[in-house]
Amino acid sequence: MPADQPRHGPALVPGSPRQVAVVGAGMVGLATAWFLQEAGVAVTVYERDHVAAGASWGNAGWLTPGLVAPLPEPAVLRYGLRAVTSPRSPVYVPLRADGSLLRFLGSFVLHSTARRWRRGMAAFVPLNRRALEAFDVLAAGGVEARTQPARPLLACFRRERDVEPLLTELEAIRATGQDVDASPVTGRRARDLEPALTDRVEAAVQIHGQRYLHPPEFLASLAHAVRTRGGELLEGTGVTDVRDEPGGVTVVTSTGGRQRHDAVVVATGAHLGELARRHGVRQPVQAGRGYSFSVPVEQLPRGPLYFPAQRVACTPLGDRLRVAGMMEFRRPGEPLDPRRITAVVDAVRPFLRGVHLDDRRDEWVGSRPCTPDGLPLLGATASPRVFVAGGHGMWGIALGPATGQLLAQAVVKGEAPPELTPFDPLRQTP
Ligand SMILES: Cc1cc2nc3c(=O)[nH]c(=O)nc-3n(C[C@H](O)[C@H](O)[C@H](O)COP(=O)(O)OP(=O)(O)OC[C@H]3O[C@@H](n4cnc5c(N)ncnc54)[C@H](O)[C@@H]3O)c2cc1C
Repeated sequence: MPADQPRHGPALVPGSPRQVAVVGAGMVGLATAWFLQEAGVAVTVYERDHVAAGASWGNAGWLTPGLVAPLPEPAVLRYGLRAVTSPRSPVYVPLRADGSLLRFLGSFVLHSTARRWRRGMAAFVPLNRRALEAFDVLAAGGVEARTQPARPLLACFRRERDVEPLLTELEAIRATGQDVDASPVTGRRARDLEPALTDRVEAAVQIHGQRYLHPPEFLASLAHAVRTRGGELLEGTGVTDVRDEPGGVTVVTSTGGRQRHDAVVVATGAHLGELARRHGVRQPVQAGRGYSFSVPVEQLPRGPLYFPAQRVACTPLGDRLRVAGMMEFRRPGEPLDPRRITAVVDAVRPFLRGVHLDDRRDEWVGSRPCTPDGLPLLGATASPRVFVAGGHGMWGIALGPATGQLLAQAVVKGEAPPELTPFDPLRQTP
């Protein structure tokens, strides 16, 4: 497509950036690059490592707008310190947390109130509404990897009374205007639906109308589409600085290269703060590390399985089951802790049959980009030609394309669409 002919994107007007750099080739960066191209913008994507080197590789791949909600919520306050300092706990904080982690946690706790959760949820609703449709736009525009309907997503519980917190949460989500269709079923019905469940599952909730994808395949396909449309994707090219200078924005790479662009979008996941801070973004982005692995199964589950009490997500990917879980607040670069893999395995073993949990492949740790108020950072920084897109925490796969679509509008028109207002990267929070 010629660089100045828009398809479904906003039209370029005089003064619109024509050549934009995106830093980071995860879901958010690549989706933003794709939607910029849709608007007729030429893109260069800088990636320190390779496509999907960050959280966008080993995640559970759920496209579940019905479950998207801010991470800080009142239940966090009930975990208590003992729970979160045990390596077996699904939410883990090291005992020797450093200053920046302590500041993040302090602010996170302040946001874990019902009132703030409702406010955050209201901000997510318009983004959630666009989430699945944005995947359809990618598909219609030539991204070959497909999303799968979850028929249904099944949340599984040990006891009937354990279902209550999820139903209450879904009710609270519905009360904010988010559509979510869920129906409780007995353990027996759950096992009929999903023979991979054991009789330790005594109750379940079917959540309808959601989807999932195969993260590595989808990201490869999205990267391929960006390249095919003429985008330059520079893997192995880390960015050390982004400078807003007269006449353009200069991207400085780790090899000392300097390249001028009309605008830059920083989409570096859990590393967002490193490049965004000098452009006035004060909100910290903390790594909420999660673990995953894949295992062979005798009969592949028909759709994703969710164990809310254990905080574990299982997703059929190809001919294997990916098992993902844990929220570990540590530095992104620290090594994988095998105790966390063991904790995930032990948590789900009683509930699954015909699933060979000891025959694991692709053991992986990756960093969810988490903000203290649980909302992403999307839009222009104090430098109007430098934008950030990230901080989606648990939901950057589901919300990546909708984010890219809206952010491309902000870049091209120089004005943020109203859906992005609550996600202003310059917002001040306690
Ligand atoms: C276990 C687990 C399960 C999850 N399950 C789901 C799920 O089911 N559904 C969902 O929606 N979300 C899920 N998530 C969250 C989701 O994975 C993230 O929110 C999402 O991948 C973030 O995407 P991103 O593009 O912002 O960041 P990333 O995917 O981390 O991409 C950032 C990229 O920037 C690159 N980079 C960093 N610094 C630089 C630099 N200086 N120069 C150049 N490149 C740089 C990195 O190498 C990386 O490739 C899960 C996460 C985990 C850990």
